[in-house]
Amino acid sequence: MSLIVKKFGGTSVGSIERIQNVARLALKAQKKGDKVVVVVSAMAGETNRLVGLAKKVNPIPDSRDYDLLLASGEQAAVGLVSLALNTLKPFSGRGFLGYQVGIYTDSVYSKARIYKINTQVLKKEIAKGVIPVIAGFQGMDLENNITTLGRGGSDTSAVAIAIALGAQVCEIYTDVDGVFTSDPRVCPEARKISHISYEEMMELAGLGAKVLQIRSVELAAKFNMPIHVRSSFHTGEGTMVVSKKLLGGLEKVVVSGIASDSAQVKFSLQNVPDRPGMAAGIFGALAKAAIDVDIIVQDIPTAGKLSLSFTVSGTDQLKAARVLKKIGGAVRIVQEKDLAKVSIVGVGMQHHPGVAAKMFELLARAQINIKLITTSEIKISCLIDGALEKKAVRVLHRGFGLG
Ligand code: ASP
Ligand code: MG
Repeated sequence: MSLIVKKFGGTSVGSIERIQNVARLALKAQKKGDKVVVVVSAMAGETNRLVGLAKKVNPIPDSRDYDLLLASGEQAAVGLVSLALNTLKPFSGRGFLGYQVGIYTDSVYSKARIYKINTQVLKKEIAKGVIPVIAGFQGMDLENNITTLGRGGSDTSAVAIAIALGAQVCEIYTDVDGVFTSDPRVCPEARKISHISYEEMMELAGLGAKVLQIRSVELAAKFNMPIHVRSSFHTGEGTMVVSKKLLGGLEKVVVSGIASDSAQVKFSLQNVPDRPGMAAGIFGALAKAAIDVDIIVQDIPTAGKLSLSFTVSGTDQLKAARVLKKIGGAVRIVQEKDLAKVSIVGVGMQHHPGVAAKMFELLARAQINIKLITTSEIKISCLIDGALEKKAVRVLHRGFGLG
């Protein structure tokens, strides 16, 4: 008998029918002899609705009570799934909020990190044959404040719970069939990938392939927890995200997927004095405000001054602008918003020269201007005009033969 954690995303619990379907899926797995733990997100659109409400009363997010508000969406979903389970089979389900099953986090609101899960409560329920239904996305800090793990964080909750309980696999049920070579809504030729390495998935997730929160993949990689991304609408196999060692022949594929990320903002700081400590000061201040900085480019100094560009996600724009204002001096700050980052990802590109040149050539032929470039061993990203995002993805998908 094995233990399986099943996580259902917003669309999978998006209506009463779908909630009943979740209950049926969970009971079916239990009947087959598996121990089952369910983790849920808020119903589709609910967290966005709460964010919208918050914006109307206080436009600066990421605070204690902002998290308190956002976490409420999952509570409703948990209650409904558990109630549905109990109509199908009395006493089969039991709902829990994060704190009730001892999910402890740090106190970085809206980006909290789990540092401990107290498995006692869960183990007791599972031993009784109950299917615990747990609120994803949330936890509690040491001062009993409700925290949330960042948008899409219920994936991370599910993986963390799977690891803590020693589950055999963490199944992430979603509204797509698995991980695709690109977003099928953007690129109709996208194909489902049957197996992918944690490394590639991390790049794809971090690059805006919305199917999994990147932190959930980092965590799974660290503890070697297999993730099965699959559809909640049919029983077909999805995509297994596993260790590279399990994937023979993977390196033959040069580019495995194309990702894109919209709503990027570029900050350019001009007139920055060319002396030690400037970058440390700027990026230190941004880090202290818990702002994720992405692409960073520094130009060659002229007359003791240089310019420094970097990107942040649109949601951090206000906060970043406030932090940067404090730099003072003669530094000039220019912001450019509505940009997109398109990226090609593949572990195979490490051993194939010319991949970057081909990417730039494909974009150039499509008349797409590149504003910033960044690379890692297994990915190349270009920042472009946000209006050209879809076009760029399609051009690259076709150009690298992924269709
Ligand atoms: N409900 C949260 C969100 O929309 C968490 C999640 O769905 O994973 O971001
Ligand atoms: Mg999600």
